[in-house]
Amino acid sequence: MLYGALEAGGTKMVCAIGDENGKILERTKIPTTTPEETMPPIFDFFKDKGIAAIGIACFGPIDLNKDSKTYGSITSTPKKGWSGYNIVEETKKALGIPVGFDTDVNGSMLGEATWGCARGVSDAIYLTIGTGVGGGVISNGKLLHGMLHPEVGHIRLPRVEGDPGKSVCPFHDNCLEGLAAGPSIKARWGVSADQLADRAEVWEIESEYIANALMSYALILSPQKIILGGGVMHQEQLFPLIRKKFKELVNGYIVTKEMEDLDNYIVPASLNDDQGIMGAVKLAIDACK
Ligand code: ADP
Ligand code: ZN
Repeated sequence: MLYGALEAGGTKMVCAIGDENGKILERTKIPTTTPEETMPPIFDFFKDKGIAAIGIACFGPIDLNKDSKTYGSITSTPKKGWSGYNIVEETKKALGIPVGFDTDVNGSMLGEATWGCARGVSDAIYLTIGTGVGGGVISNGKLLHGMLHPEVGHIRLPRVEGDPGKSVCPFHDNCLEGLAAGPSIKARWGVSADQLADRAEVWEIESEYIANALMSYALILSPQKIILGGGVMHQEQLFPLIRKKFKELVNGYIVTKEMEDLDNYIVPASLNDDQGIMGAVKLAIDACK
């Protein structure tokens, strides 16, 4: 059986055809401009591919409440033309197949839970630190939605002493996204994050913000695994720094087997940056049920 997968991002749309094992057989990328311009070539890509369903892992905020009149739409984005666009309805209309739908980060979480490092784990969080910060959560084996969906990138954090930077989040002075996403690193140091690998002070501050956030997620969600993805996490030196600071912050309060093995608790994404698109395949598989 073949399935369609769409990873809908603010800068690009990744379209793929996958099978029931999450194997990606074909893919293409389309830049995200306006819905009028962006969506028709996406629908053309998926037409005549013999797919049974399509899964959409979408940038947000989005309406995931199946009882809502606007289920399937993108809600309050500043991205021109997308606010109020019902991507689920339009895709159903264009392709006439079942559509699975969730946030981009829940998609990545689902990919990792189905085919990656969180297989067999009932409670986990996937955090992406890239252009923004977002997180997908599984709780009791199910993707967490709730009132809207988790927005773990915007939790309030204490400022690191001596941090010369300012929050770049237009909503919050002290949130994780505003202080630790790629653009905030660039704003703080004047150079883009990928050019700063050998500047120790950059990763000291970065890891402290991330460790602080992980401490809150660990306490509130009680995940058995914390997965860190996104462009900034390609800086592998962050992992040991984050684990060390996380351990100091927890300060012995949580006593579990996971806490004794932080190398296997706070881990990088495991699917070669395909966790999102593979998760979208799983959303399609689940939409057939
Ligand atoms: P997006 O979040 O837009 O889906 P990414 O996850 O690739 O895309 O995140 C892009 C951000 O990550 C940019 O701010 C970029 O500077 C930063 N980034 C990308 N690659 C690296 C790297 N190797 N090291 C540090 N930062 C990186
Ligand atoms: Zn914020």
